[in-house]
Amino acid sequence: MAQTLSDQIRILGELQKIDARIYELRRSLNAFPDRKTTIESKLASAKIRFAAAEDNLKKVQMKQKELENDALTKETQAKKYQQQQAAVKTNQEYAALTKEAQNALADKSLIEDQILKLMDEVEGQKKAILDEKKVLAESETRVKQELDEIAKESAVIKQQVDGLLAARKEFTPQVQADVLAQYDRIIAKRDGIALVPLQGESCGGCGLTFPPQVVNEIKMRESMIFCESCSRIIFEE
Ligand SMILES: [Zn+2]
Repeated sequence: MAQTLSDQIRILGELQKIDARIYELRRSLNAFPDRKTTIESKLASAKIRFAAAEDNLKKVQMKQKELENDALTKETQAKKYQQQQAAVKTNQEYAALTKEAQNALADKSLIEDQILKLMDEVEGQKKAILDEKKVLAESETRVKQELDEIAKESAVIKQQVDGLLAARKEFTPQVQADVLAQYDRIIAKRDGIALVPLQGESCGGCGLTFPPQVVNEIKMRESMIFCESCSRIIFEE
């Protein structure tokens, strides 16, 4: 156990170097879930676009099927009118059925034009699906790579933190229990920095200027001096 306050502060300084690094590494670890979410959302939007392209193709194909049925109906109607012509008694009735049959065939022709246009659309949609499929596959590969990188990076950082925690244990037994408890309380509240140097006549943590009396006390190292504003321990380098 280091006996003088000066020794205690020197050891706290070593501890502080380790702890500052631990806090820094933990902050970057805390950012990993957000990074993961951002990467995964890129994949999700590629999946949505691919599904939408498939959906569009289905819609166009359904419309095509519908029109094919309509064309068939018109053809059946025309045939029915033509068959009915065999049974009619007057020229007038015969001519009326010819007209009906012609109308049905004209409708069928219009529907077939629409079907041709839809077939072009189907081809276009199939191409769009292939494009989206390619984008999706690329996105999947990239996202997998990025997630692997993140996992590796995260494992390395965790290993570093473990190493630093072990190194920390070499110093903690040398600090008086009450001093260590105080230091730990401050470091938790002040995001990793509990011990700061005196900068001129000011706190190296928050910048508060100390009265000359306090500056002298810090320099004398006879008692632990805390910043009134940020509660950190002040030492002279
Ligand atoms: Zn301060």
